[in-house]
Amino acid sequence: RLYNEVQDLKGNIRVYCRIRPFLPGQSKKQTTIEYIGENGELVVSNPSKQGKDTHRLFKFNKVFSPAATQEEVFLDTQPLIRSVLDGYNVCIFAYGQTGSGKTYTMSGPNVSSKEDWGVNYRALNDLFQISQSRKSSTIYEISFILIFWITVSSCVSQNSYTLLIFTLFLLLNMFFVSFDLHTLGIWSTTQPNGLAVPEASMHSVKSTTDVLELMNIGLMNRAVGATALNERSSRSHSVLTVHVRGTDLKTNAVLRGSLHLVDLAGSERVDRSEATGDRLREAQHINKSLSALGDVIFALAQKNAHVPYRNSKLTQVLQSSLGGQAKTLMFVQLNPDVESYSETISTLKFAERVS
Ligand code: ADP
Ligand code: MG
Repeated sequence: RLYNEVQDLKGNIRVYCRIRPFLPGQSKKQTTIEYIGENGELVVSNPSKQGKDTHRLFKFNKVFSPAATQEEVFLDTQPLIRSVLDGYNVCIFAYGQTGSGKTYTMSGPNVSSKEDWGVNYRALNDLFQISQSRKSSTIYEISFILIFWITVSSCVSQNSYTLLIFTLFLLLNMFFVSFDLHTLGIWSTTQPNGLAVPEASMHSVKSTTDVLELMNIGLMNRAVGATALNERSSRSHSVLTVHVRGTDLKTNAVLRGSLHLVDLAGSERVDRSEATGDRLREAQHINKSLSALGDVIFALAQKNAHVPYRNSKLTQVLQSSLGGQAKTLMFVQLNPDVESYSETISTLKFAERVS
């Protein structure tokens, strides 16, 4: 036998695994991806270790190989996304270590080329097109939230650069508030859990162009402190929310649905020996919020009476779109590189627990 472990799908959250290709210009590396099955099977192994026991089998609703296109990936999410028009709340996450393709899947590498568009632009484009063809008036509103951690000590003491960037970022957000970029900084040292989640302001959109404009302002904002904010983006969760309000063509009842598109912070474990102080604290916060998310999805899949939404800002923000009638899909992103083997295993274990 090739593998020593068989895991079955549990509850009702859909989990898709996507493996990114080796990047051009990357020196030839060994892959940990041993086998991809038609029905969502994935076998990973550690080629740097000998012996059969290193092979592990996982099973998801679907596994996308490195050759899968943005279009193929989108088509598998399309029915779920369209159910928003029937009044469902849908939540799509991308989970994985930094560099595993979360942003590629959710937004795409290049907004200006339609071919490259990720799930979020394709989803909105699809919804707009349906509304147009139905000739029914559907109202779309979007908001964009960034959840990140900034410690008071990193602001007041050694790291004044962070403070500068953060302030600039907040000022820009205030300036562009009408463009709806909403930032949620969490001041961890004073109030680990005490901040209320402010309502993000919603902005009405009518076309993909409107959305692109809004998102571009977000991206422009991010580009302000190029390196510092780039780093921030992998250390923050970004949540694009689409609220849809339409009328049922048969009954004339008002239908409200929502779509949350979430590009999570990198799930990599930070080594205690490498990170200290603020960086370690930040990493601990991220890990805590990701495991809080895992706990919520796990509780929902188990149909537990108590769902621990209040344990993190992330799960508070997403509460209305997780559980109940909501539909959840998680993209589990993998970097096939042998050096990522242990991260790959911990990512797969996270996914296995919630699926
Ligand atoms: P993350 O958001 O998880 O940190 P990115 O989406 O930024 O990762 O991806 C890291 C790099 O890999 C980027 O250069 C991105 O363009 C590339 N990449 C990711 N997924 C794919 C893919 N499916 N096909 C081609 N390139 C990809
Ligand atoms: Mg990213």
